[in-house]
Amino acid sequence: MHFDIIVIGAGAAGMMCAAQAGMRGRRVLLIDHAEKLGERIRVSGGGRCNFTNRTVSADNYLSQNPHFCRSALARFSQFDFIAMMDKRRIPYHEREHGQLFCDESAQEIIDMLRDACEDAGVQWAFPCAVQQIKLQAAEAVKRYAVATDQGCFTCQSLVVATGGLAIPKIGASPFGYRLAEQFGIPVIPPKPALVPLALAPELLEAMKPLAGATLDATAQFDDAQFRENVLITHRGLSGPAILQISSYWQMQEYRAGKKQPVEIDLLPGLDAGAWLEEHRQGRVHLPNLLAEHLPRRFAHEWCALLGGEKMTIRPISELGRRDLEMIAGKLNAWPLMPAGTLGFAKAEVTLGGVSTDALSSKTMEAKAAPGLYFIGEVVDVTGWLGGYNFQWAWSSGWVAGQFA
Ligand SMILES: Cc1cc2nc3c(=O)[nH]c(=O)nc-3n(C[C@H](O)[C@H](O)[C@H](O)COP(=O)(O)OP(=O)(O)OC[C@H]3O[C@@H](n4cnc5c(N)ncnc54)[C@H](O)[C@@H]3O)c2cc1C
Repeated sequence: MHFDIIVIGAGAAGMMCAAQAGMRGRRVLLIDHAEKLGERIRVSGGGRCNFTNRTVSADNYLSQNPHFCRSALARFSQFDFIAMMDKRRIPYHEREHGQLFCDESAQEIIDMLRDACEDAGVQWAFPCAVQQIKLQAAEAVKRYAVATDQGCFTCQSLVVATGGLAIPKIGASPFGYRLAEQFGIPVIPPKPALVPLALAPELLEAMKPLAGATLDATAQFDDAQFRENVLITHRGLSGPAILQISSYWQMQEYRAGKKQPVEIDLLPGLDAGAWLEEHRQGRVHLPNLLAEHLPRRFAHEWCALLGGEKMTIRPISELGRRDLEMIAGKLNAWPLMPAGTLGFAKAEVTLGGVSTDALSSKTMEAKAAPGLYFIGEVVDVTGWLGGYNFQWAWSSGWVAGQFA
């Protein structure tokens, strides 16, 4: 019942770590409370797993320490994971923004990792509930004792790979955060990220006529901006551009001060003021002009929402300069203040987590608790949409697998 390493959490990071450590000849036990292995990999990317991205750098991640992820990403890069895919002959393809997906099924990645663990002699315990963890110190030797519903196991190194809180119904739990706190390791409060944004009922009511619109727009907040689809839904804002900006909007939770809105540039790449000025003397109606770039129904309803009925019934030449300046400003930066997010049930990842200040970026070991490692999403490193979160899981799992 004694192992060199116990890894808790058989997801992306945990399986990668266990396989690597096993290949080094370490005796490894991999524990998970779920019935099925790698459930989050299986459901990802619409069943095809967006497993990494052609271009990965620290700029694609959010963290209280944006440099922390550099070392692991450099030591096991996207190219290393692509090489694993090639070796296993798993076919994949590239979509926009360098996103790489399996051609057939995410299950192929789960099978690859599972086989890598088996080839490396990793032992499994799942479904297995962890009840308690204690540090046993006998003379100079320290061991972690892991009490489970399948008995008590001990180990020299304990790796926590229990992920974040997104989508609780597929096995997410706060286990990793609780364990960190048990060992005095600070946790940046977890928040939903890559998540649709909710709007307050009054704003939602006013925006009802816009619901259902899909726009090619830029969502912006602070210095971050993403040009992709924005969807206006009956609950608020969604679509890839919104999911991306939601993570940055959520970072405000860690700062003092008044919350700021997100802004939507409805005419990315176009100076709305100059463009409206070109047409100012014409007889065209504003919604018809905007329909050159925006869905016609949306253009009409949006003009009425922002400027009232006159914007839709008078030709542009009869609108005042102030009105046009206001509209131009809102076309390039339409401010919308979210009331919150749709929460962990609809989030793809978790912002925050085990503080990177407490971990070694080279090994992922806790500085104050030798032999205790944290990897993957449980750590305060959150990637953009586009394969970056799996890449962090592979990279951090691989690194810990070399040292634990
Ligand atoms: C719907 C969805 C789609 C996604 N699509 C993508 C995508 O296409 N590309 C991308 O890069 N990222 C995607 N992500 C994010 C990505 O899945 C995660 O960032 C990644 O899986 C994190 O890996 P991990 O190993 O840290 O955690 P997980 O993969 O979440 O693994 C954690 C494991 O720990 C186990 N566990 C949890 N608590 C306990 C406990 N108390 N005891 C024992 N075991 C426990 C869980 O059962 C699970 O197996 C998606 C997420 C979701 C929710």
